[in-house]
Amino acid sequence: MLNRSAIETLTKFVGAENVLTDPYDLDRYSADALTPSRAFGVEGAFDRLADAVVRPATTEQVSQIVSLAAGEGIPLVPYGGGTGVMGGTLPVRGGLIVDMGRMNRILQVNVTDLTAEVEGGVVLQDLVEALAVHGLMSGHDPYSVPIATVAGTISTNGVGYRAAAFGPMGQQVVALEVVLPDGRVLSTRPVPKYSSGPILNYLFIGSEGVFGIITKATIRVYRLPESSVFATSSFETFDRGFEAAAELLALGIRPTLLDLTEEEEEGILLHLLFEGYQEGVAADHKRSMQVCARFGGQDVGPESTENYWQDRHRSGENYKEAMLGRPRQVRWDRWGGRSFDYLHLALPVSQVLDYRKKCEAILAGSGVRVVEYSIWSRPELFSMMLSPEPGAKGDFQDNMGQVVEQVLTLAQDMGGIMEYCHGVGVKLNHLLARELGVGHDVIRDLKQALDPANIMNPGKLGL
Ligand SMILES: Cc1cc2nc3c(=O)[nH]c(=O)nc-3n(C[C@H](O)[C@H](O)[C@H](O)COP(=O)(O)OP(=O)(O)OC[C@H]3O[C@@H](n4cnc5c(N)ncnc54)[C@H](O)[C@@H]3O)c2cc1C
Repeated sequence: MLNRSAIETLTKFVGAENVLTDPYDLDRYSADALTPSRAFGVEGAFDRLADAVVRPATTEQVSQIVSLAAGEGIPLVPYGGGTGVMGGTLPVRGGLIVDMGRMNRILQVNVTDLTAEVEGGVVLQDLVEALAVHGLMSGHDPYSVPIATVAGTISTNGVGYRAAAFGPMGQQVVALEVVLPDGRVLSTRPVPKYSSGPILNYLFIGSEGVFGIITKATIRVYRLPESSVFATSSFETFDRGFEAAAELLALGIRPTLLDLTEEEEEGILLHLLFEGYQEGVAADHKRSMQVCARFGGQDVGPESTENYWQDRHRSGENYKEAMLGRPRQVRWDRWGGRSFDYLHLALPVSQVLDYRKKCEAILAGSGVRVVEYSIWSRPELFSMMLSPEPGAKGDFQDNMGQVVEQVLTLAQDMGGIMEYCHGVGVKLNHLLARELGVGHDVIRDLKQALDPANIMNPGKLGL
């Protein structure tokens, strides 16, 4: 519990209206989009609520809050949009949630440097709109554009619809300003290349806030394309579509969107979008359709991909409308009752199809089925949506939990990783050391050096 004097000090830093202790607020902040129904075996992580929520507006205030917490050993949980799906914002040891929502200013858009300098709490949709005024766009375009923040997406190294051309969010980072666990402010410089020691930005990319709170980021931005061409190729089998996608990338073609999806209703479709200067787009489109045809792909026209593109932020909009900021139980009731899981694993290209076969063997007779297979932006990035078999008997939750654990560890055993886009949170915490080996010892050593009292988002990244 926070003592009265800590609350008073926080109030001095940010004003009484920005220190929330009402049980209603503590409840709605003490979660993200992970529901207990998908937190197989770690449901206990939801037991604890934060002791208070604090809403800083400047880097200086963040530094004051962190210094106070470091002095008194108060756990801190950085909070962006609260849309993570792994429980990264769960206050498993209580303490303070640091809501970055007031740090939402776009400080500079530089059309020459092709960068935008923004505060960490900027919502992606606001960035999209600010960039469009300058004829620019962001390279990171997840489903959750309407609800996720710049620093939250950096801290999970998220993947979006333009990742085939521009890479994940981490690749958009040019420079960061971060408040370290002792209150010091670290800034990296906005240049694209370093050769003087490790690139410190990477200490914070995908680190779920365990090494500090990102207060500002300078990110790469891109010209809005001169030309955009959508295409869809339909395949008889997932394997042939997969081979076509791998061949496109091996040839050096970089579509903006490359998404191969297999589901019952639509069949097996490779969605492609080419963006850029006119001649390049025309050449990439033509050659790509030839490659797809070589693997048995049928050109079924642009419509399906155009619709898919139009709809891509729908789930984010729905979440904003019905769930964002609502009490936990309301969110869980709307979404959490459904037993399902959506896994995003990565393996070397040469292993993916074999991995899929092995997963099918694990699933056979388990009462769990895959309702969608896909690769997203690269053939290595393989996703499966799991659901209970219709009419399956037994405890779905248990079955699903066991199957999920088996397929995740199989990916690790085949040289891959258990998650490429959403982070670890509380959901995958127990499997991280298994995956990283000595690498996890290094993460522990870094944590010990920078945050010896383990105040910064404790209980995450296996720490
Ligand atoms: C409907 C829906 C669709 C989604 N679609 C996608 C998708 O297409 N692609 C994708 O990758 N993900 C997707 N997600 C997941 C989620 O949007 C991402 O994980 C996103 O990156 C989280 O951003 P956020 O601002 O909400 O972060 P939060 O959930 O607030 O935080 C995520 C993690 O980052 C830490 N953090 C937050 N802010 C800071 C900061 N300033 N400094 C340091 N650490 C910080 C938190 O402590 C936490 O560990 C989706 C989620 C939903 C609900």
